[in-house]
Amino acid sequence: MDPAVLKRMEVFQGDITRMAVDAIVNAANPSLLGGGGVDGAIHRAAGPGLLAECRTLGGCPTGEARITGGYALTARHVIHTVGPVYSGKPSDALQLAACYENSLQLAAENHIRTIAFPAISCGVYGYPISEACPIAVDTVGRMLAEHPAIKKAAFVLFSNQALGVYRRYLENPD
Ligand code: ADP
Repeated sequence: MDPAVLKRMEVFQGDITRMAVDAIVNAANPSLLGGGGVDGAIHRAAGPGLLAECRTLGGCPTGEARITGGYALTARHVIHTVGPVYSGKPSDALQLAACYENSLQLAAENHIRTIAFPAISCGVYGYPISEACPIAVDTVGRMLAEHPAIKKAAFVLFSNQALGVYRRYLENPD
């Protein structure tokens, strides 16, 4: 991967709802009507306006993305994407890559310069972090190379273990 693109990716440990970026990405479910995990945390932090806007969207299929306002969040926008439920089939990787790609496509269309991603599908949806990380980093790297207006993409990990997996991969990506 181009070192200049690699430098535009960062990793953090903590709560994505507190990130001071133009957009945070939500690992949503297909209803877009809220759930647990990072989705619940984002809706709690954004306030009821977010759910009201999500109700107007009519859901989101797996692999696609939708954009809303950020309401009470520091981030001006939330990009909601629906990751695959891990099944062990080759389609998992394609759908997970589509989440990162479609989120960044929406970001580019909406003049977003800084964006933060959680580990999509790696919670309730059961995707192993060691398999998801290279898909996330490689797809984001490819999209950043195509979209120079997106200056920074952050991966925000909740656990120490996930942080370690991302740090190691970013030091030595394929
Ligand atoms: P999914 O249903 O796509 O698996 P989850 O919300 O269950 O989504 O989990 C996705 C990842 O987000 C998990 O690795 C989980 O530990 C992490 N996570 C949960 N809450 C937060 C938060 N506030 N900030 C960042 N990451 C979070």
